[in-house]
Amino acid sequence: MVNEKEQNRVTLMMISDGKTKEYSLSKRTMQGLVGIVGLIIIGMLAMLVQVGINGQLSSSDKAELEALRAKNIEQQEQINVLAQKANDLQADVNRIHALEAEMRQLTNTPTSDAVSRSGLRRPNVSFPSFLTGADVGSVGDSMSAIEYDLKSSETNLKEMHSVLEERYNMQVKRPKGVPAHGQISSHYGSRWGRLHAGLDVANSVGTPVVATAAGVVTMSEWHGAYGYCVTVDHGNGIKTLYGHCQKLLVSKGAKVKKGQKIATMGNTGRSTGPHVHYEVIVNGRPVNPASYL
Ligand SMILES: [Zn+2]
Repeated sequence: MVNEKEQNRVTLMMISDGKTKEYSLSKRTMQGLVGIVGLIIIGMLAMLVQVGINGQLSSSDKAELEALRAKNIEQQEQINVLAQKANDLQADVNRIHALEAEMRQLTNTPTSDAVSRSGLRRPNVSFPSFLTGADVGSVGDSMSAIEYDLKSSETNLKEMHSVLEERYNMQVKRPKGVPAHGQISSHYGSRWGRLHAGLDVANSVGTPVVATAAGVVTMSEWHGAYGYCVTVDHGNGIKTLYGHCQKLLVSKGAKVKKGQKIATMGNTGRSTGPHVHYEVIVNGRPVNPASYL
């Protein structure tokens, strides 16, 4: 009788070079070996399935890749268009700068360095060629340079504007000329032993009397010996006075322009005939209007 231990063993016989080798394995070891081989086979099958799936994915990847390539080409074209636009804009800005420089010469206004003083820095860019293909970074730099140039133009123009405005104001606010058509019947100076503080311009009653500079009306009423009288404040301590009027055409507080009709010539107050008595008053004192003709 074969004992139970023998029954639970598997004997493997190998014949090599005429010699017989015998391996005796327990059934349990044998089962273990079969299990390992099974696991290996399952693992290999799983790998094969995986490779198959990968093969399927790569065909969809391929389509995606092609779509991305097409998109890439499209975007590159768009970037090239932007780069070209940046070039055109820079050319426009350069023309504006040239005009600015010309205007500065014509108006004799000083050059400003306000933008460089502001701490802004212009990126040092060489504009990308849209033929060789621009990149987003270089287009961005170009835009920053254009932005800087435009800011500097704006600052320069604002400065030029304020200089010109001040100059214009000085010009329109500085009395010039006579306030009416007519004959100068009396100059500023000593007359009949006292100071004649203004200039008399004689013409017929009703002749227009105009402001000799822009300003604000500070008086428009009867004023003793001056008769109906208007005074205009031009700022900078300068006022003008128009006396002996017939009619007053502006009210106190009104803004008047240079050359605006403010009254008509009359013969009111202490007057010896139709005329306008015109004074230029600087810091409260009448001065010779001759300096303002
Ligand atoms: Zn007078």
